[in-house]
Amino acid sequence: MFIKGQWLSEGSQGKFAVLNPANGETVAEVANGGVREAKTAIEAAAEAFPDWSAQTAHKRSALLYKAYERLVSRKDEIAEILTLEQGKPLRAATTEVQYAADFLLWFAEEAKRIYGETIPSARPDQRFLVRHEPVGVVAAVTPWNYPISMVTRKLGPALAAGCTIVLKPAEATPLCAIEMVKIFEEVGLPEGVVNLVTSSDPKPIGEEFVTNPLVRKLTFTGSTAVGKMLAGKAAGNMKRVSCELGGHAPFIVCQDADPVHAAKGLQLVKFLNTGQACISPNRVFVHESMVEPFKETLAGRVSKMKAGNGLEAGIAIGPLVNSAAVDKVDAQVKDAVAKGAEVVCGGEQLTDNGLEKGHFFAPTVLNNIKPNMTIYREETFGPVAAIVPYSDDDDVLAMANDTSYGLAAYVYTQNLSRAMRLYEGLNFGIIGINDINPSAASAPFGGTKDSGMGREGAREGIFEYLETKLGGFSI
Ligand code: ADP
Repeated sequence: MFIKGQWLSEGSQGKFAVLNPANGETVAEVANGGVREAKTAIEAAAEAFPDWSAQTAHKRSALLYKAYERLVSRKDEIAEILTLEQGKPLRAATTEVQYAADFLLWFAEEAKRIYGETIPSARPDQRFLVRHEPVGVVAAVTPWNYPISMVTRKLGPALAAGCTIVLKPAEATPLCAIEMVKIFEEVGLPEGVVNLVTSSDPKPIGEEFVTNPLVRKLTFTGSTAVGKMLAGKAAGNMKRVSCELGGHAPFIVCQDADPVHAAKGLQLVKFLNTGQACISPNRVFVHESMVEPFKETLAGRVSKMKAGNGLEAGIAIGPLVNSAAVDKVDAQVKDAVAKGAEVVCGGEQLTDNGLEKGHFFAPTVLNNIKPNMTIYREETFGPVAAIVPYSDDDDVLAMANDTSYGLAAYVYTQNLSRAMRLYEGLNFGIIGINDINPSAASAPFGGTKDSGMGREGAREGIFEYLETKLGGFSI
């Protein structure tokens, strides 16, 4: 933990172990904090706020830029730590560290563009002036699936805006957060500006975040259930909130798509991070005329994906986060099969060749998914591509929108009108048209409905950490 410029190797709850999900081995032990540390960290952030928020945007930008350079220079080393604590293949971990660095660079730039405005008044003797000021102390809660990029996607804009921060990373993956905070310390961020509370028990810390009057803003990425609970409590104390929560992304392959291209795209995005991403396609709607070539290409590619320890060469798919995640995937697959789904490939837990020590599930393709199956309704967060054949454009739009989630959606089509109709008709925050990677530091990321509120990255991302102040001047 890092509070008020001091590292603590032990907390009020002692220490806790960080386990490698590929083999169950202990990777490290870290300080286990509780309410006491959360309070102290919030107070330190509140104390640091007046000075930090009074720095020039150029100074804050320069520090973020240094942190960006330092993170890039340590990319390979931090990627290895990421794989050890989270499990994704080393190449994917390296890509994530670069993605994390991108947010630091982007917000180093945006720090200098927090423009205000002047507004003409109806009164000749009046002038209106608008400026944007940092909200104050930010409490940030980050998830285990992207342990470093979710940290910089929040801390980058918060620091650029002039806020001070208390970060609580996920209990499964505190190590990347520790490395990131070390970098902020090394580049000279003043004491108390970023504080880190690691803990194996998030509940009391979350409670402190949403009730402590010194915290002005909560930024949360995680499950919809926890996000709603925290946002509800934060609302009771009128704190600003942004939440990036679950998803249930449709992936639509239209009758005019190239089925091979679409299948390649699906394989890349669906099995990324072993399906543990909020933008992971969870319902693959394929026009009935395209099912056979799509399925064949997909199964051919998926069955070649080698599962294992992400530090080993040739590994295409890592473990799931824990045994509960394996059980959830297994239950969804069994439920679908019992109700008539076809197993095209995979379909079971992987327990041979040393994989029994980790949490592995075979990359799986199911076909003939129906609305009465759990997988049609619930987010899987695992490596299962669930194909739903369809026959009509209007039906598929209604089916795609028939979910309480609204994060990402994907469409494969070569028809411009259809692409535009679906882009406009899909009720999701992010739409990929023949594009499986519609995310970047420069693009607004976020969802609607149960997928959360607010946007991260892009020009919008910094406004989550700013208040608008009006000045009315009578002259
Ligand atoms: P998941 O089910 O994907 O693990 P969670 O929502 O449980 O998602 O976890 C996301 C983040 O939320 C993690 O940092 C976790 O520690 C934190 N978290 C979980 N429960 C709470 C809570 N009651 N209060 C505050 N943070 C929480």
